[in-house]
Amino acid sequence: MSAREPQALPPLGLDATQQYRLGIMGGTFDPIHYGHLVTAEQAREACKLDLVLFMPAGTPAFKNAAEVSSGEDRYAMCVLATAANPHFRVSRFEIDRSGTSYTVDTLRYLRAYYPQNVELYFITGADAILDILSWHEAEALAKLTTFIAATRPGYDIHTAQERLVASGVPLAIRYIEIPALAISSTNLRERVRNQSSISYLTSQSVAGYIEKNELYRRGV
Ligand code: ATP
Ligand code: MG
Repeated sequence: MSAREPQALPPLGLDATQQYRLGIMGGTFDPIHYGHLVTAEQAREACKLDLVLFMPAGTPAFKNAAEVSSGEDRYAMCVLATAANPHFRVSRFEIDRSGTSYTVDTLRYLRAYYPQNVELYFITGADAILDILSWHEAEALAKLTTFIAATRPGYDIHTAQERLVASGVPLAIRYIEIPALAISSTNLRERVRNQSSISYLTSQSVAGYIEKNELYRRGV
C-alpha cells in the first residue's frame, strides 16, 4: 500500500469488545448529489451503521476512464458534500490506487485492515445491486459483506431481488425503501453542459466547486 494509507482509511477508535457496523458507499460520484447522500443516510439509520465511508472509485471498471473527472475532483466534492455529517467520511483508498479498482479487492482489504468486530455493509442503489452478479467475483463478495440495496426511481428493486435469488449466489442483502430522488450524476453533467441549474440537486458547495473548476462544460 502507498504512504497515504493512514489517511485512506479512518481509524475507528474502537475497543475489541464493541460490535461496529461500517457502511461503504461506493460510486463514481461524478459529481456526488443528494440521491447519494439520502441513500447513505437512510442506510445508516435503517441498519444502525456507526459510520458510512464514501469510496469514490479510482479508474472505474465499467466506465470509460477518459470520460470521468479526476479522482481529486470527485474526492474533493465528496468531502464538501459530507463535511457536516459526523457519521460520514470519505476515503482516498481507491483513487490512490493505480489501475482498475474492483469492489471485491477493496472489501478484501477493508476486511483484513479492520478487526473482526467491524461488520461491513456495502450500500448500493437498485440499479447497482443487480450489477453485482456481473461484478468481479460475486461469490467472494458474498462472504465479505452484507449488502444494503436502496430503492431508486426508474429501477425495479423487486425484479432485482428475484434475479438475485434465482442466481443462487448466497448474497446477504437488506432492501430498504428510501425517499425517491430522481437524480443522477449523468443528468447533473448534462445540466451543467446545457447551462441549466443544478441547485437543490446537490449541495451549494458542490455546485460552487463545479462552477469554479469549470467541470462538465463539454462532454457528458
Ligand atoms: P451516473 O449517472 O454517472 O451513473 P449515478 O447518479 O448513478 O451516476 P453513481 O456514482 O453511478 O451515481 O452511483 C453510486 C451509487 O449510488 C450506486 O449504488 C447507485 O445505485 C446509487 N445511487 C445514485 N443515485 C441514486 C439515487 N438517486 N437514488 C438511490 N441510489 C442512488
Ligand atoms: Mg450510476
